[in-house]
Amino acid sequence: MIDFKDLGKKYGATYALRGVTLHVPEGEFFAYLGPNGAGKSTTLRILTGLTRRTSGEAYLNGFHIERDSLQAKRQCGLVPQAINLDQELTVYENLNLHGLLFRIPAAERSRKINELLDYIGLGDRQGSLVSRLSGGMKRRLTIARALVHSPRILFLDEPTVGLDAGIRRRIWALIKKIQNNGTTIFLTTHYIEEAEFLAERVAFLDEGRIIAVDTPQALIARQGTWAIDRVVDDDIKTVYFKTREEATQYSVNQEESFSLRRVNLEDAFLALTGKKVK
Ligand code: ADP
Repeated sequence: MIDFKDLGKKYGATYALRGVTLHVPEGEFFAYLGPNGAGKSTTLRILTGLTRRTSGEAYLNGFHIERDSLQAKRQCGLVPQAINLDQELTVYENLNLHGLLFRIPAAERSRKINELLDYIGLGDRQGSLVSRLSGGMKRRLTIARALVHSPRILFLDEPTVGLDAGIRRRIWALIKKIQNNGTTIFLTTHYIEEAEFLAERVAFLDEGRIIAVDTPQALIARQGTWAIDRVVDDDIKTVYFKTREEATQYSVNQEESFSLRRVNLEDAFLALTGKKVK
């Protein structure tokens, strides 16, 4: 459903993407994980037609992003990082405007908008000005707006940045529900737990390159199952183990304080790059 090969982008002399290749099959929940500056937004901006690639090729549902740009744009909806709703329009008007841009006929447009408002739990707020909504509601509305033209792919750029834990979980549930209805999900994030909890496969992106692609479980298993963190000389040293028994055995001989925990995607990223995701 999403295919790109050697995709590259240079801003002047700066490489934002250094030739990334990826295939995401229909219906998958895919996470693109990397620290700030890794090239996540640049990839999404290229795929959604907001900026031009400088090398490589990309296709959305078989449509080339530049040669068949109109068709490619119809295949996808984008939830941008910054909430760019029209604050002085109502909830309904914001969705309607998007439907008009995609030339959806009036009857179908209103049916789709009402369906989406129920879907995101804002059915009773359709006449409210966006400026009156809470942060979590605005986020849900931004997601609904990306779905008005019934895209096959939903791109989400760091969809839960700045949200508190409760609201974040509600957004996660909504995105999962969208996937369960058959939409392919491509999410960029620098939140480890978000990728680990939601994604079927994860790509690690670092300095414009994909350094690993696999299921979260397989990426984690490369590093071990259990970890012990110890404070040593003002730093935290981590040791990894294949089994809990090995970790327990090791901990018996520890004199300083330590903590035993499960290995996570952060450990896997750190092992490959020598740096943390956030
Ligand atoms: P991420 O989304 O992973 O934080 P970005 O794709 O925003 O990363 O940025 C990747 C690299 O490209 C960074 O080094 C960033 O400074 C650079 N970059 C992004 N947008 C521009 C731009 N419009 N002009 C120049 N450099 C840019």
